Amino acid sequence: MVRLVLVLGDQLTPDVAALKAGDKARDVVVMAEVMGEGTSVPHHPQKIALILAAMRKFAAGLEADGWRVAYSRLDDAENSQTLSGELLRRASAFGATEVLATKPGEWRVLADLEALPVPVRVLADDRFLCSEAEFATWAEGRKQLRMEWFYREMRRKTGLLMEGDQPVGGQWNFDHDNRKPAKADLLRPKPRDFAPDAVVEGVLGLVEARFSHFGRLRPFRWATDRAGALAALAEFVAERLPRFGEEQDALLEGEAYLSHAVISPYLNLGLLGPLEVCRAVEAAWQAGRVPIAAAEGFIRQVIGWREYVRGIWALTGPEYLVRNALGHSRALPGVYWGGETGMACMKAAVGQTQDLGYAHHIQRLMVTGNFALLAGVDPAKVHEWYLSVYVDAFEWVEAPNTLGMSQFADGGMLGSKPYVSSGAYIDRMSDHCGGCRYLVKEKVGERACPFNLLYWHFLVRHRERFRSNPRMGQMYRVWDGMEAGRREAVLAGAQAVLARLEAGEVV
Ligand code: SF4
Repeated sequence: MVRLVLVLGDQLTPDVAALKAGDKARDVVVMAEVMGEGTSVPHHPQKIALILAAMRKFAAGLEADGWRVAYSRLDDAENSQTLSGELLRRASAFGATEVLATKPGEWRVLADLEALPVPVRVLADDRFLCSEAEFATWAEGRKQLRMEWFYREMRRKTGLLMEGDQPVGGQWNFDHDNRKPAKADLLRPKPRDFAPDAVVEGVLGLVEARFSHFGRLRPFRWATDRAGALAALAEFVAERLPRFGEEQDALLEGEAYLSHAVISPYLNLGLLGPLEVCRAVEAAWQAGRVPIAAAEGFIRQVIGWREYVRGIWALTGPEYLVRNALGHSRALPGVYWGGETGMACMKAAVGQTQDLGYAHHIQRLMVTGNFALLAGVDPAKVHEWYLSVYVDAFEWVEAPNTLGMSQFADGGMLGSKPYVSSGAYIDRMSDHCGGCRYLVKEKVGERACPFNLLYWHFLVRHRERFRSNPRMGQMYRVWDGMEAGRREAVLAGAQAVLARLEAGEVV
């Protein structure tokens, strides 16, 4: 009896559940490059190329390890161009009676698998440190699912940065030492570029010929196998981790990476594991090479935030994807797809996204996310955009980050207040405002920063929901204390910005 062992493009690790449950001697691994997945949303060309190149190399590794692999290339003549089609084609060719799959990180793909007319055994994805069942138990009966409490549980469970049952340094969180504005005049070692080899070049040609999505394909700089991913991790730990904490929220013109790790694509594809990454960071701290604030801040992102959002995704199910607690319905403005803008911060964040398929978390949260939320964009459209344009974006991680943290579409399940700010935050954390058509200090008038105008408009239109929120009451008091004429001018300015967005005009 032959079984098919399905390995998806973000399950590229030899100990993924379906491979562990498979039998090399009789089963056939199925891997498929299909247009159906490449175009499910308009994925960034670099993301498609990264996944396809990494899949090809991983498949070659499995074959070298003795597995029989049925691999469908995108340009194979018989390719049905859907995952279901390829599984059925292989099932018929090999006379397979069952498909072994590891739970996909996208509800749409899971539904497709479950609808197949052959038996499919979906196994839990145990590459995470916290299982779905464990997260559900932790969440049960809690009024608020606060990440900080979950994170402490994960510290205890993994023993990372622990002395017995106490956190090293006597505290769980060192963020008061982190999150400073970046200094423009520092020399920062940039992440290494991995020159495309023959496999990557082959894929780049294919992607160039078949996809015309938003985003530049070249230069392509990503590692596409485990050895490269390990090299990228080692380089981050040695060169950028020491300043990671203090710079993690900063924005600088022309500095796409600052001191960020830029290893999330490798983690999310399966080329790196969360625990090995955290152990490498912990070891650097133990050796005295990095400050505790940097090590703790990084480890929190991985065993805290990353595991937490995956738990939320699994707990809430597909209905989470259509939540829209604030009733926002505006179309996504053209600036998100590279349209002209006078806003220097948006131009930098979107331009960098177009070029690299990468932006760090504050660019995503406090620039593009903040603007979409203030402007009242339909969260489903914002979700589709983030899922499309970032090389590390997979639904299980992207949807809670976008719909929950960034757009407040879940009504406050992830965050106790919406992540909105006026231009003052961007001004404090970046050097964008000096070169902007708008004036960040102006609160009214033609040249007032759109973030300033839309911030108040957002608070006013959602007053009923947020006025009794203890973290927002102060802002309502500031608004109420403003002179009536000024309030009218602010709202009229915001309406004018929204009308221009609506008309597709440049903002
Ligand atoms: Fe962005 Fe406003 Fe600053 Fe311009 S002035 S860069 S729009 S925050």
